[in-house]
Amino acid sequence: MLSDYIYQKQKMLLEQQTDFYTSTGLHVFFKDPIENVDVEKVISKVESVVPMHLLSEVEMIIIGWFDEFEERKLNAFYKDGTLYVSNIQDDENDMYDDLIHEIAHSIESALGYEIYGDQKIKDEFLRKRKYLYDLLLSKGYRAPLSVFTNTEYDKEFDMFLYQKIGYDKLSDLMMGLFITPYAATSLREYYATGFTEFFLDSNHNFFRKVSPELYKKLLLIQDPEKLDNIA
Ligand SMILES: [Zn+2]
Repeated sequence: MLSDYIYQKQKMLLEQQTDFYTSTGLHVFFKDPIENVDVEKVISKVESVVPMHLLSEVEMIIIGWFDEFEERKLNAFYKDGTLYVSNIQDDENDMYDDLIHEIAHSIESALGYEIYGDQKIKDEFLRKRKYLYDLLLSKGYRAPLSVFTNTEYDKEFDMFLYQKIGYDKLSDLMMGLFITPYAATSLREYYATGFTEFFLDSNHNFFRKVSPELYKKLLLIQDPEKLDNIA
């Protein structure tokens, strides 16, 4: 039987994938089997690219399928010291992106003051939102301005962007305004997509031009000495 075959194959995969500790003390745990990805390789790349002090909040990484992924259309999320990441991944880069993105969220409360305290990335984000509002209005897409000036995640805004306008069209419209359409979702996602871009691509020219304040902020966050000087 096919389902039996799949079950056996999954079981075999899971047996091959044993939980492990990394050199920086992350505990990696397999809830469900994962294909196409050498998890140890991906995590060791993360540890070599992201500075140690930015990994300090994550204690555990659990790989598997979680209801939250379905409910919130996510591939990964961070909660209370644990990074949950989907076992359904296209390839290693796909998983690498997810991990870096969630690491960005993991430090948001510990470094809340350093990231958000001076309001600089908030101001930059809101300027871009206002520009987007005008741009969309000029193309005939209308939504209340109050939705654009809310920095929190807002379902109404999300639906407006991704369902009414659509991701492809947004990508074109937002070129040079946001590094990805997802960055427009909320202030927290603005920051997290910037963090991801910063550590994903060592060429920062485009990012620096599009989001100069966010870029400056990441230069600061990645440097433990500079961080110490603000507190
Ligand atoms: Zn996020």
